[in-house]
Amino acid sequence: MDSARDPASESTADVERIMSLGPVRPKLDFPRTTFGGKSLRFQERWYSLFDWLEYSVEKDATFCFCCRIFGNQVGCSGTVFVKQGFRNWKKAVGNEGKLEKHSKSRMHQLSRERAICRKTYVPINAQLSAVAAEDLSRRQQEKKENREVAEVIFDVVRHIILQNEAFGGHDEKDSSLNQGKFLAEIKFLAKYHPPLQKWLDTYPGNVLWLSPDIQNEMIEILANHILDIIKMQVKESKYYSVECDEVTSHKHSYMSIVLRYVFNNIIYERMIGLKEVVSLTGKSLWGVLVQELGKLQIPLCNMVGKGFDGASNMSGKEKGMQQQLTDAGATLFLYFHCFAHCLNLVLEKCAETLQPVKDVFSTIGAIYKVMEGSPQRNAVYERKLELFSIKDGRTALRAFSDTRWTAKEDNLNATINTLPCSIDCHSRRA
Ligand SMILES: [Zn+2]
Repeated sequence: MDSARDPASESTADVERIMSLGPVRPKLDFPRTTFGGKSLRFQERWYSLFDWLEYSVEKDATFCFCCRIFGNQVGCSGTVFVKQGFRNWKKAVGNEGKLEKHSKSRMHQLSRERAICRKTYVPINAQLSAVAAEDLSRRQQEKKENREVAEVIFDVVRHIILQNEAFGGHDEKDSSLNQGKFLAEIKFLAKYHPPLQKWLDTYPGNVLWLSPDIQNEMIEILANHILDIIKMQVKESKYYSVECDEVTSHKHSYMSIVLRYVFNNIIYERMIGLKEVVSLTGKSLWGVLVQELGKLQIPLCNMVGKGFDGASNMSGKEKGMQQQLTDAGATLFLYFHCFAHCLNLVLEKCAETLQPVKDVFSTIGAIYKVMEGSPQRNAVYERKLELFSIKDGRTALRAFSDTRWTAKEDNLNATINTLPCSIDCHSRRA
């Protein structure tokens, strides 16, 4: 490599390149020159004595690597080791040796300092990029860990939703023995998930992502994700039906909205919301429905079916919600009074007019009231179940539901199943 370079002719413009290559130090059978009758030549061992020393084949002379590159930067006046080259071998080494003298010269010292600095110097942009790279890597690691933790918290939220359980506890303070389902699950999982445990240990309370607000936000994100899927499927299906019903709970009225559609040859019924309504008039309910469909960008013109109950605010031909929808553009529709509601009404009316049926259910209702009305009587009932070895089928007596008449079937089944036990209980009482 050095054969291609020569300090006598090499350009020093590209400092980076020359610094990376180092001094030119060829090893060869150096030519001899006669000095005062003595035949002398450059000695290879001098390389090890002076780390800056270079040899020029062209000039059979030595140069200084440091001064050659940095001499002009430090105000170098001497040119022997820089331009002409030193080749007086007789005076090269020894106490008064020129090589040693050059080593100690002010000019050389300054050039050497520059060379050393340059060698270990990392340009400022490289230094900054190193810091930036380190910072970026740290932030990426943090981001990765945060994502892992967020996924676990989301999973806990999803799990509790699927279990249909309450998130919070009555007392969520750290001192509480039961902080509620959500916090309990997070802390339980942390025992087996080191990043989550680290997260709980490291961060102060307000950035833990565990507050009720964050829980609600996560539930909303999941709900929106599900709505996006429903929206995509309804759009793909194009035509859909809508089913609505109102319910009152804790002095507030709500309307459930269900969409029914066929996607990939499968019938889907998907609830898109349980919305609070301030008024139960047809117009008010219509407004809420149109707003919810609008949010999903589902056009009214593709609505082909409307299933509501028979109440006038729903079914009314002038002010009912079904007519309001038609007026608003849902013209393809077929309105039908929900079949389940109809069946329920028919059964109710039939039962009211048939005395034997009325008697059966009033008796069953009375049995329930007597047996469930006191813990002592219920305990007797439980013991009789064991005595008669009634273990399978329905054994628990239930309260009647007036709005879901068909649910009375459960009571009927339970009564038939436990009949010997009930008769025994009541005959003993009598
Ligand atoms: Zn020098």
